[in-house]
Amino acid sequence: MLAQLLSIPKILDKSLSGAALTVQEGVALLRQQDSQVIQDIRQAADELRRSLAGNTVTYVVNRNINFTNICEQHCGFCAFRRDEGDADAYWLTQQQMLEKATDAVSLGATEICMQGGLHPGAKLEGKSLPYYVKLVESLHSRFPDLHLHAFSPQEVQFIAREDGLTYTKVIAALQTAGVQSMPGTAAEVLNDDIRRVLCPEKINTATWLEIVETAHQLNMPTPVRCSRDILRRQNIKSSIWSICDRCNSAPRNAGILALQNSSCSLTLAKTPLNPSAKK
Ligand code: SF4
Repeated sequence: MLAQLLSIPKILDKSLSGAALTVQEGVALLRQQDSQVIQDIRQAADELRRSLAGNTVTYVVNRNINFTNICEQHCGFCAFRRDEGDADAYWLTQQQMLEKATDAVSLGATEICMQGGLHPGAKLEGKSLPYYVKLVESLHSRFPDLHLHAFSPQEVQFIAREDGLTYTKVIAALQTAGVQSMPGTAAEVLNDDIRRVLCPEKINTATWLEIVETAHQLNMPTPVRCSRDILRRQNIKSSIWSICDRCNSAPRNAGILALQNSSCSLTLAKTPLNPSAKK
């Protein structure tokens, strides 16, 4: 009922001023059914988008390479994961990865997004980090100009857990090997109550934020511009949004747009992660 009492023009003015909306204000906008009011909301959204991002659209020619679909976890929404031994389980060799990258480059790709299932067997001499580092190094040495967007916060936590390392150590090693940006995946629904139902084995909200924040401290860009304080202030627990480019269930930028439209005041990156992004 409260949402119905809120003034739509005031909410739109507040939004255009750059202030973050409350959950109640967002709900009030979503409840509108009058076509003129909906048109006003559309116009305000477009104005806000223009002021934040301008009218220049950039894109990156990217290929996703998922090196394995074998995963130790069992997220309820995941159609990608397989158990080792399943008929359609796969684990690409480095040669196969290079062939896929070569194929992508021949088609104009300037970026590879590399992620995979959480495979406890993905190790070199019993260690996880060297396996991931070698994956990166083999691609980076063959294609030094190719932007490598790789390994989600969940994968960073997995490597750190397997090898008993800090997140800083893992991210720094991947960065040194050639990773240039981190996907914002594994956020899914960033609400611990929902995560406990949908993906109870996954890292919780605080860990996801800690790893993204650590990446930012190491100057590793992510699609997320946020700080723990902002997320807390804006009551992230009430925000439902999704980023998933591991399983290709949504384009990466859809996640950013979802953030932009959520009650979190996260801002749309004005510059592409990849300097080779085309206009
Ligand atoms: S969403 Fe990711 S972590 Fe979860 S089961 Fe699928 S591959 Fe594994």
